[in-house]
Amino acid sequence: MTLHDRQGQRFLPYGANYLDWQDMTELREVIEHQVLFRYQTEQESMASRLEHLVSERLGAARTLAVHNCTEALRLALISTRPSVGDVVYIPAVTFVAVAGAVLSCGLIPVPVDADESLALDRTLLPADARRVIVAHMEGSVATLPQGVPYVIEDCAQTLGGRFPDGREVGTAGYAGVFSFHHNKVLTSGEGGLVVTDDEQAWAAMRCYHDHGSARVPGRYPTWNQDAYYGENFVTSEEVAAIQCQQFRHLDEVLAGLERMYGLAMEALPNRTDLRVLPRGKGDVKVSLRFRCESRELRDAAVTALTAEGIANWTLGKYLLPEHPVLTGRRSLYADGFPWNLAPEGPSALSRDNFARTRDLLDRTLCVPLSPELPQEQQAVAVKAIRRVLEAV
Ligand SMILES: *Cc1c(COP(=O)(O)O)cnc(C)c1O
Repeated sequence: MTLHDRQGQRFLPYGANYLDWQDMTELREVIEHQVLFRYQTEQESMASRLEHLVSERLGAARTLAVHNCTEALRLALISTRPSVGDVVYIPAVTFVAVAGAVLSCGLIPVPVDADESLALDRTLLPADARRVIVAHMEGSVATLPQGVPYVIEDCAQTLGGRFPDGREVGTAGYAGVFSFHHNKVLTSGEGGLVVTDDEQAWAAMRCYHDHGSARVPGRYPTWNQDAYYGENFVTSEEVAAIQCQQFRHLDEVLAGLERMYGLAMEALPNRTDLRVLPRGKGDVKVSLRFRCESRELRDAAVTALTAEGIANWTLGKYLLPEHPVLTGRRSLYADGFPWNLAPEGPSALSRDNFARTRDLLDRTLCVPLSPELPQEQQAVAVKAIRRVLEAV
């Protein structure tokens, strides 16, 4: 556990918890087994063990481990057997990886404006929408659209979140994708998962992620006569080992976040011009989310928190309609693929050209919570946040 002492306060860096040599039994096992490639062995690989753990914990029929969440998104998209140039509706407020995954599959991303909670506003979707990616951003569980054949849940920032009916995020749509990037609920540096209840989709993804092969573990791959091309997204045993170790701590991470969130909700100043937004019961409490009366107040709070060494972030970076990847419509392909195939019709869906969303983002501020800190230190950290926010 890395604790930094600064100005008498103790805090953990955000985004990497329970990284401890004493706790790396799975990694030790992999090294001792002398196999780092998952299909090198006929025995249960560490990657399979991880996939079973995840399926069981989330209540999903199937899980596939890949290198990152962007690959997981690509797999989920391509398994729907689209035609090039098909539209995929994506959230206007999310990480640009979502747009990149859509484009790299030869599909056209159409950002859909956010509702008050900053999640994709389902009421803006056309009745004939076939593919929609919904992102559960920053621990907040979004509501999924109904009647859409392929809803892909991007759970990169919300592993462990639950819908009001108790289901885990990632298991309510066609497929769910997760990330183990450094700044996520659990981390292995890079890493991704796709989960689905659709056996056929899983089979297609497993095949595509291993060169289109019909691999039997422990053997050289073989290709059926009806094989289609694929790529190589096969994960490594040592990465899966760290992911298994991280996964063991998921409930502790979630409980640690809940505990600090509870402490903060009792202690934070009651300012109407700088409100903490209450989070839903099933949300992962990765941060305290504040809504300020003005952008100036938000910026002053950012400056004050940063001066005290308190980690914080804002969400304006997630507004995709302003992102150069979408505004520029550029591509490394000489013919501009796939933008050259974009169908006629609106290139984004919003009632006010994203004005309200832009305003909400400009006034929003997030302060991450530290799940691994013992309760007394969480209380100290909360007091420090309170002191700063009272004074701005
Ligand atoms: C991090 C993130 C991704 C991409 O995950 P990688 O594992 O880094 O590819 C996708 N979507 C969202 C919402 C993210 O936060």
